[in-house]
Amino acid sequence: MDHLARSRRNQFTAVRLDRVVERRDDPHWVAGSLSNPHTRLVPLWHSRSLLETADEGTLAVYLSPSQLAEPNLIQPPTLLGQDGVRDYFAVSVTDTQKDKILEDHPEASFTDLRRASLDMAAKHAGILAYAKALHYWQHRHTFCGVCGGSNLLRSAGHRMKCGNEECARETFPRIDPAIIVLVVHGDACLLGRNTRYPPRVFSTLAGFVEPGESLEDAVVREVYEEVQVRLSDIRYVSSQPWPFPASAMCGFYAEAVDRSCGTSEEIEETRWYTVEKLTHAVLNDEVVLSSPVSISFRLLADWFRKSGGGDLEALVRSRRR
Ligand SMILES: [Zn+2]
Repeated sequence: MDHLARSRRNQFTAVRLDRVVERRDDPHWVAGSLSNPHTRLVPLWHSRSLLETADEGTLAVYLSPSQLAEPNLIQPPTLLGQDGVRDYFAVSVTDTQKDKILEDHPEASFTDLRRASLDMAAKHAGILAYAKALHYWQHRHTFCGVCGGSNLLRSAGHRMKCGNEECARETFPRIDPAIIVLVVHGDACLLGRNTRYPPRVFSTLAGFVEPGESLEDAVVREVYEEVQVRLSDIRYVSSQPWPFPASAMCGFYAEAVDRSCGTSEEIEETRWYTVEKLTHAVLNDEVVLSSPVSISFRLLADWFRKSGGGDLEALVRSRRR
């Protein structure tokens, strides 16, 4: 499996949409699409997504353009793309619009996507994550960083331009690159307990890439800072959009020089797990792993399977029932 195929297995990757970049600066096309009853809007309210719980899992709730009263002229809909059948737009809803939407959809609620996406179809989790990322950027860049003027949305929501004509600075969507790494040594992998985690939660190590660093440099620095482990071999595996709030997660495996390790302000405890020890720890609720939608879990699950442990997700889900 190549890197592209590996990344496409990760939740929140909106690969099933054609982003129709060439349409973003075509206001006639955008207006036509927004008056088409087949178009679907992805509503966001305070960064929360409209979701419904059904027997088959969590469902994304989309609106047709006519279902959204009083269009928001300050934050017009943002073009996401097409799936071959429909066009999709993200739309920020006001409190009044939110009340009306919930009245029309009594089974739905505005919910945190990260938690709800566990049993959500990949296509829709990807569309909602993409919408959420743009919504977050737009709401945190309402003013120009140079002159303080009001930013105006352009290119169907994918660009901002300062409204002060003397400045006219342009801003584009911001993503924070972060590395996430499963450190291994021989037949064991290293999991750490972040001081902020709920009880018994252990995970891979992660951190933001700093200016002036390659992704690999960031892996070396973060692992040493957090647990004082030296690495001998670093391999990139796959990446994942992670709009909680604005990251691109870059996943790696790294080989430790030996199993000596320490703790830090961030990581209060570390454990080396073989497949047998991890299986025992999961089955006996001694450890709680990160959500199966995360690249962290994917790195661990792939290592677990390759090391002869079988399906880690099935093992974890058997404990959650
Ligand atoms: Zn400005």
